[in-house]
Amino acid sequence: MVQHLYIETVGCQMNMLDSEMVVASLRRRGYEITSDIRQADTILFNTCSVRQHAEDKIYSALGKLRDWKEKHPEKVIGVLGCMAQKDQQQIFRRAPYVDLIVGPGQLQQVPDLIEQVRQGGEQLVAVSRDRQDGSLADIKRSHETFDPLRDPTMRPTPFQAYLRIQIGCDKFCTYCVVPMTRGPEQGRPPSQILQEAQLLADQDCLEITLLGQTVNSYHYQGEEGDWRLADLLEQLQEVEGIRRIKFVTNYPRDMDQRLLEAVRDLPKCSPYLHVPLQSGSDAVLERMRRGYSVDDYRQMMERIDRVLPEAAVASDFIVGFCGETEEEFQLSVEALREFRFKNSFIFKYSERQGTRAMEQLPDDVPYDVKQRRNNLLLEIQNEISEQENRRFVGSSVEVLVEGQSKKSAREGAEGPVIQMVGRTPCDRIVVFDGTRRQVGQILPVTVYDTTPHTLFGSVMTEHVGPELYLLGSS
Ligand code: SAM
Ligand code: SF4
Repeated sequence: MVQHLYIETVGCQMNMLDSEMVVASLRRRGYEITSDIRQADTILFNTCSVRQHAEDKIYSALGKLRDWKEKHPEKVIGVLGCMAQKDQQQIFRRAPYVDLIVGPGQLQQVPDLIEQVRQGGEQLVAVSRDRQDGSLADIKRSHETFDPLRDPTMRPTPFQAYLRIQIGCDKFCTYCVVPMTRGPEQGRPPSQILQEAQLLADQDCLEITLLGQTVNSYHYQGEEGDWRLADLLEQLQEVEGIRRIKFVTNYPRDMDQRLLEAVRDLPKCSPYLHVPLQSGSDAVLERMRRGYSVDDYRQMMERIDRVLPEAAVASDFIVGFCGETEEEFQLSVEALREFRFKNSFIFKYSERQGTRAMEQLPDDVPYDVKQRRNNLLLEIQNEISEQENRRFVGSSVEVLVEGQSKKSAREGAEGPVIQMVGRTPCDRIVVFDGTRRQVGQILPVTVYDTTPHTLFGSVMTEHVGPELYLLGSS
């Protein structure tokens, strides 16, 4: 009998990619996906633990399944990903009816573990080693992922895919749980990455986004030689079929001249650089142990400006980090105004178990102050994004068409011409009137209006189509 899988994913692009792999491995065993949780035989939550809010969402979703699981003990409920790695057995204490807990480094085991639960009925845990648990080689191996399994139907669109080039993180910013949940930093071997890019191209994928926690720190040293991100980009440029290459997230100190020149010189590389500043105060950056000052960041921005004047730079900020004074926060406001990011993701500091900040620094900024600071940064960023977007009015941008716009889908729009949505190489969202046949094409669009987050345009037609010839001959 066909098994039905319901999977819910929260968190970053890494989690979306992990879910794609899990789904691909279960489809191979005959599973079908359902969007109706009550129809599912197996329910998986792929979780995030970067902020408390993401964990609360999962515990609340699990809570809603308590009575249902009592009535249907044969159904399997699994918690995957970072929260599974971080909380491990604690999840069973809060939700004793969960069957399976699997960390991000053990996801390849999911199909077998589900089988074992079905046969034996016992609760199972598969997690990677803690950062102090054994030799570095053993710890690294326990966090390895199983990337070559790809499933086009589980991607944002079939022609856009994430490709992991780096696992884990060694930066240990004091607020961040990722080095614990994803393990030590490891650059995947270039041959694996190139093979996977070829596989994606064979599946008609046009755009790949390379993923790493600090993707521009990518380093592989081993049997295949010594590789940095710029070397990889040069080789990926040669993969036929791939038209666009993006990479996220970057670390300011590793944004070197060679990498910027590679982005400038390789036509497929998008000049979109997500490189989080986190705070505009040196004292806060020091408490975060980010490893750079605002002036270092400024010098990096100047380098970007010299080599890639048209680049779109995006940032993350944390507000209300331990001890953040009003003056320190004002420095973030000033930095935001100075650097004029294309967009910024703003987060309220959330204390995380196992981090140095939790052990050594009090989480002493009240919630309402965090909220106010968050709103203020968002407001300023919106103004800047709006002004930056205005510059595009009247110009032509190159858009990879992703599909029908959310608005048009919500309104149930029908007919040959509907509102479509796509992205520029700089990751700007573009909305225009078009047709479903344009999905997966790269088209020139002329911009006539903008908001802080969207460009509105019309498709430029460069040749006379067959419809016009028909009209002319009638
Ligand atoms: N590796 C990436 C980097 O260093 O930029 C991003 C990793 S993290 C998943 C994404 C963002 O979440 C970070 O850039 C940071 O702004 C935010 N973040 C991480 N830990 C946080 C915490 N404890 N509270 C609030 N925001 C946090
Ligand atoms: Fe977390 Fe810092 Fe690593 Fe990013 S660089 S994943 S914020 S520890």
